Amino acid sequence: MLSKLLQTANLFHLLFFIDSELAAAKRSAGCPHCGGPLHQSNYMRQPRGGPVGLPAEYCLRRSLCCGRDGCRRRSTPESCLFMGRRVYWRCVVLVATALMQRRAESQSIGQLSRLIGVPRKTIMRWFDYFAEVFGNSSEWLRIRGFLPATVSNDCLPVNFLEYCIMQSQDALSGLVMCCHLLGRGG
Ligand SMILES: [Zn+2]
Repeated sequence: MLSKLLQTANLFHLLFFIDSELAAAKRSAGCPHCGGPLHQSNYMRQPRGGPVGLPAEYCLRRSLCCGRDGCRRRSTPESCLFMGRRVYWRCVVLVATALMQRRAESQSIGQLSRLIGVPRKTIMRWFDYFAEVFGNSSEWLRIRGFLPATVSNDCLPVNFLEYCIMQSQDALSGLVMCCHLLGRGG
């Protein structure tokens, strides 16, 4: 069920809409270094793992550049669609890792890999990242304090994703909530 969501264009519409708002808010706040005006300086990425035929603008990684001479520094808005420099969409990373963590014994990693179209080595890398690094990342620590203790730190991201789905009307809204909270850092 979760894997099917990754092929749902509406998921990406919603995340794109949130990212647009995050970028607008960042832009209107001005340059964090000097307070100068921020101009758009987006660049194209080729994220993997989503449905074919998404609008090209969804693949734009938003970026802002200070317009003041002597500063010109770049600032990058928070994003629900993208997760750092990873080449897959954030939702794909989350769902693939969650499915890996909740995988039935009868399901091999190879089967999971074919189901979501991500190489098994990549899934294993994400799995290790969440097991070893993510629990202490600033991204997670910023939201940890707002969550009930029932969301365990031990099995992330699946515990957090399941919490978001429980709080939402349906799995799609839950996945959006999960990407949103992680993307904007709480
Ligand atoms: Zn500046």
